[in-house]
Amino acid sequence: MLEIENLHTKVGETEILKGLDLEVNAGEIHAIMGPNGAGKSTLSYALGGRPGYEVTAGSVTFEGQDLLDMEPHERAAAGLFLGFQYPVEIPGISNVQFLREALNSQRKARGEEPLSGGEFLKHAKEQAALLKLDMDMLKRQVNVGFSGGEKKRAEMVQMGILDPKFAVLDETDSGLDIDALRIVGEGINAIMRKPDKGVLIITHYQRLLDYVRPDYVHILSRGQIVKTGGPDLAKQLEEQGYDEVMAA
Ligand code: ADP
Ligand code: MG
Ligand code: MG
Repeated sequence: MLEIENLHTKVGETEILKGLDLEVNAGEIHAIMGPNGAGKSTLSYALGGRPGYEVTAGSVTFEGQDLLDMEPHERAAAGLFLGFQYPVEIPGISNVQFLREALNSQRKARGEEPLSGGEFLKHAKEQAALLKLDMDMLKRQVNVGFSGGEKKRAEMVQMGILDPKFAVLDETDSGLDIDALRIVGEGINAIMRKPDKGVLIITHYQRLLDYVRPDYVHILSRGQIVKTGGPDLAKQLEEQGYDEVMAA
């Protein structure tokens, strides 16, 4: 579904990703773990097409299409969803307005009919209920005054509403308390654990992976995948730390 080959990226003059290879098949959930500054967020930005994250070599194929050749909005319309480590606030626009606009522009790009206000609200309510987020939160301005946990939960509702084929979730679990972590984990499973979907979870901690059990765990270090294993690798990292596991 997603095939990354020999990906190299530069931020300014500095090379960050240095030949990263990764393949995610439909129906699989992969976790990427790695020390601070390894290039995890850079990978998610490069996949999203964020300006300033220049791909200097390699290829990324998404369902047979050249992802790197697509504009960010085309990537989203093709079914790629990115959850960010630091969600942005958008004063003056409500979540409902923002998400209806986002969903309908993606539907338009795919040649589908837009949802009416009523249809959209029904869909949004179902997704909010799944993530136990009060509908009033969705009527508020995007992320303005939201706590860290509320932002992440709202982001998962956003994912449920857009119903992407592939999600890249960058530290979705950071700053969550135990209950929010479980709700977010169950939300990821409910929305994305499907035979025709794929997920890349970037995380520092093993605990989210107790709820969302990955098929593969990769260690990203200095711009490359240096080790791949099953869920046990995450447990081993938690117990031993990166240095020891990577040296083994
Ligand atoms: P991780 O998410 O694994 O902690 P990042 O991808 O955020 O790592 O960063 C990898 C490296 O790239 C770090 O050394 C970071 O300082 C650098 N970097 C990332 N983005 C920028 C940027 N916009 N400007 C300068 N350096 C950056
Ligand atoms: Mg390589
Ligand atoms: Mg990061």
